[in-house]
Amino acid sequence: MQNIKERLNKYVPEFIEKLGYFLNPLILNFKNENNQLLVFFFHGLFESQRQKDLNHIDPQTNMMVIQFVDFIDYFLNHKYKFIIPEDLLAILKNDQPLAMITFDDGYFNNTLAIDILNKYGIPAVFFMTTKNIKEYKSFWWDIIYKYRTKQGSSLETIRYEQRSLKSYKHPFIDEYIVKNFGIEAFKPWSDIDRPFNEIEVNNLAKSPYVSIGNHTHNHSILTNYNKEEIKEELRESNKILFDLTGTLPTATAFPNGNYNNLVLEATEEEGFQFAFTTQPKINLLPVEHGNLICLNRYITNTTKITKFGSFCRLGYEPDSLYTGLKVKMKSLIRTR
Ligand SMILES: [Zn+2]
Repeated sequence: MQNIKERLNKYVPEFIEKLGYFLNPLILNFKNENNQLLVFFFHGLFESQRQKDLNHIDPQTNMMVIQFVDFIDYFLNHKYKFIIPEDLLAILKNDQPLAMITFDDGYFNNTLAIDILNKYGIPAVFFMTTKNIKEYKSFWWDIIYKYRTKQGSSLETIRYEQRSLKSYKHPFIDEYIVKNFGIEAFKPWSDIDRPFNEIEVNNLAKSPYVSIGNHTHNHSILTNYNKEEIKEELRESNKILFDLTGTLPTATAFPNGNYNNLVLEATEEEGFQFAFTTQPKINLLPVEHGNLICLNRYITNTTKITKFGSFCRLGYEPDSLYTGLKVKMKSLIRTR
């Protein structure tokens, strides 16, 4: 029984995905997209396949520059306008669908995007983890990936190790890294895995199409912390970003996408106007102007954007369509 379930969970979303590649473009011919904002989040960018193959960074969601260009072309071809969060406050009437590009964490390799943004004249938000920038240290999930891959661990055990650390606060994770890999492990290996340094953040902020956002000080998964600690994480990061750029960020992206009411309360009380989650959904326009505007985001993946993009424009991911289908089936069976 377990086996059948596992197989269904694997093959049905794959089937839905393939079906969507054909059906979605047809459905989209009849969909008005002017009332929607799609927000996407990226992590690292690779210059080439060779860079990716070096295993200096966890490649899970990282893209090649060429894929980033395809991504922009795709949405421009479908009449999307790229904006930053502040633009939302000024929009009164919308006659065009909107999209937003965000980069999480603060990888130096994100500079590969700058020439492209300048060339196209479109903006992006870069959410920075300030402790890594301040101390010029590698991100803990990359350390695990790099060292374990070198030791020959399977991807499955690496993912398990990364996942299990996510329920802890940052001092525990730091200690774990030191205990398992030594203090030297925090030293970046190359331009591929390293964070920005402070001077680079200062320069980046001067770029005309760059907006800087908060991603907490320690990349803290905020649902593991109490209210005062949450505020401290947000406050410390904003203080450093203000010192480096002269501008106080008004947007924060919750690390790992985790949040609850306490996190939202703390974020609002710290004066943020925008909070970014990782719920893969459309944001309907006009957005509700509460004190804190909460925006859903799609994670970008390495599937060809001409295929994957059609799902986002419809407000789905193959997995979420399958989950919805399962819920519907269950309730149908129950009402019989
Ligand atoms: Zn992050």
